[in-house]
Amino acid sequence: MTAGRELFWQIEPQEVFSWLRWAAVVVFGLGWLRLLVWVRSGRQAGELPTVRLGWVRALAEAALHSRFKPGVAARIWHVLVFYGFLSLLVVTLCVMASHAGMSFLFRGKIYLGLTLLAEVAGAGLLAGALLALADSLRRPREGRRKFEKVSALLLLIFICLSGFLVEAERIALAADPWRGWSFVGNFLSHLLATSGVAVSMGFYETLWWLHAVVSLCFVAWIPFSTGLRHLLFAPARRADTALRPVSQPPQADLNSVRLAEPGLEPVRLGMRASRDLTPRQRASLLACMDCGRCERLCPAFQTGQPLSPRKAIRDLAGSSGPQSLLRRVGLGIDRSEVSPAEAVSRSALWACRLCRACEETCPAGVEHVPLVLDMRRAEVLCQGRLPEAAAQALRNLARTGNPYGAPPAERLRWLKDEGIPEKPVGGQSSWLLWIGCLASGDDLKLRVISAWVSLLRKAGVSFYVLREQASCCGEPARVLGDEDLFQTVAKSRIRSLAQAGAEKILVHCPHCYSILRDAYPALGADFLVVHTSAFFRQALQEGLLRVSPEEQGKSGPGRVAYHDPCFLGRYQGLYDPPREILAAVSGVYPLEAARHRKGSFCCGGGGGHFFMDLDAGERPASRRLEELLGLGAEVLSVSCGFCHAMFDDAARRLAEAPPARIADWLELLQERTVPGSAGKALLAG
Ligand code: SF4
Ligand code: SF4
Repeated sequence: MTAGRELFWQIEPQEVFSWLRWAAVVVFGLGWLRLLVWVRSGRQAGELPTVRLGWVRALAEAALHSRFKPGVAARIWHVLVFYGFLSLLVVTLCVMASHAGMSFLFRGKIYLGLTLLAEVAGAGLLAGALLALADSLRRPREGRRKFEKVSALLLLIFICLSGFLVEAERIALAADPWRGWSFVGNFLSHLLATSGVAVSMGFYETLWWLHAVVSLCFVAWIPFSTGLRHLLFAPARRADTALRPVSQPPQADLNSVRLAEPGLEPVRLGMRASRDLTPRQRASLLACMDCGRCERLCPAFQTGQPLSPRKAIRDLAGSSGPQSLLRRVGLGIDRSEVSPAEAVSRSALWACRLCRACEETCPAGVEHVPLVLDMRRAEVLCQGRLPEAAAQALRNLARTGNPYGAPPAERLRWLKDEGIPEKPVGGQSSWLLWIGCLASGDDLKLRVISAWVSLLRKAGVSFYVLREQASCCGEPARVLGDEDLFQTVAKSRIRSLAQAGAEKILVHCPHCYSILRDAYPALGADFLVVHTSAFFRQALQEGLLRVSPEEQGKSGPGRVAYHDPCFLGRYQGLYDPPREILAAVSGVYPLEAARHRKGSFCCGGGGGHFFMDLDAGERPASRRLEELLGLGAEVLSVSCGFCHAMFDDAARRLAEAPPARIADWLELLQERTVPGSAGKALLAG
């Protein structure tokens, strides 16, 4: 006898089911279409062409769950639900195809295989949904969101249980000869028979219809559910993720826009309303699955400040996402549009450090930083609303060329003291040192400049500093939302660099490096920009510098721990050069904190926070310093002036003097090196 069974056994009228099925398919399709149209109709903004992850890798990630940490409960239940759901979808499609005439799909060995698959998948889906329910009940979530997630899971659990019960009833009533393959249904049918629970045609038919209607409603609801629509948008967002983050996406040139013809579309000044969201930002809002992983490395959230990147995305999706039918017709729901900044809350908006830790950990490829920057722009450019300390830093920048307000004459005295040339001495071979705000005064910064200059002299590298360039690159204005001031500053710097004939620029500050490398080209700059860590690593490799503590009569720095600055690591991918330099200096690879490289914890000084003290509770720098001191290192090495000052400040707040020295790697390298024996090499030439 060929294995198989009658489809829709004892179910009448089958036409009703067919209509319901088509209705579900139409609602499902229209639901997705509505979301896709909403995403595509986002406002276009300048984007740099960049290599993206692509669908193949995004789907491989989804299939392997590689963005989940192994062994974590969320990974286990997501694997069960994901594969359970997919397998049942395949079985259902085969049933439909068989019903439509391809009867071979539900006969013989294929039938037995599909039956077995349905059993395993159903059991896996049920187990996964139960685990997910327990996980969701445990997590702190806002009331409405918890309700929506829990209801989706309860529906899924009901669908699995009712499916198994329908099967058990059918097996008992039809005396199915292939019952052994439906091992869960078979077991349940025995249980029903022995416990005396109703086994009757009426009960079977009622349960069948209930199961079918709830399943179809669930499918139709998927694109309308904020918790389920990530099914499509999360892989789509991951596929669209830039392989190298675009640290400074180009903005409209405000000057050229001011001169634009009347009648042209007004310039996009950040995100004033939901209509200003770009297609990528819209897809980000739909991709979020409310998992909360972005909160784990967020320096603001982890130190009790009023920002949760998860909640910010959900709030933004709630206020600026595609409107539900009820909202569109205004049925009992307030239709007045709140601005994105209000929806997220201004305190959350200004608490962000732009560190990108959230983006790096997000399994759905949500990009938080462009959203935060766009909301800040709208607040500053359109409303003039920003924290007073930030406004003061911007006034200083506009007045004195640096956000600290240090008078130009005072901050350039060191140029003469150090005997630094102010124009190229070696023609094309001369490197322009981009000093930026390091020139603004305090001893800590001057120590770093002095080490940098000595190293170049030892390496025999020709360099100079342009007096008018020893000022801010404009980064504080950009991250604090004043794009107008940023562009004014940036254009002035680009102009004077071009007039001086600068071709090669050496930068130490990771913030300046990101701006010079990624933002200036969009405003017309065309220079080679190199970071000091890459430069001095090459100088060591090529023998321009030699580590020789004996010749200097110095003992080693001891064990060194290294802190990754967000703007050098997560933004620029420069993780290895500073580590390799420190390994050369101390003889061993630096100690690694549990949170390092992409998963490093921000010092709290990014996103303009170096200039404004908004920290209500614990400071991120104190939390990070504690973690680094816990490694037992004798030196904590940094690679950014902001991190350096933040840790120095955190160290001063400790009850006792910290047991480790805090130093820039440039200082350590300078202390341990002598001129190398190599002649003129690539770097110098
Ligand atoms: S960029 Fe950093 S500070 Fe801002 S939300 Fe993300 S993790 Fe938090
Ligand atoms: S933004 Fe990403 S990490 Fe954060 S809750 Fe949403 S999906 Fe999870």
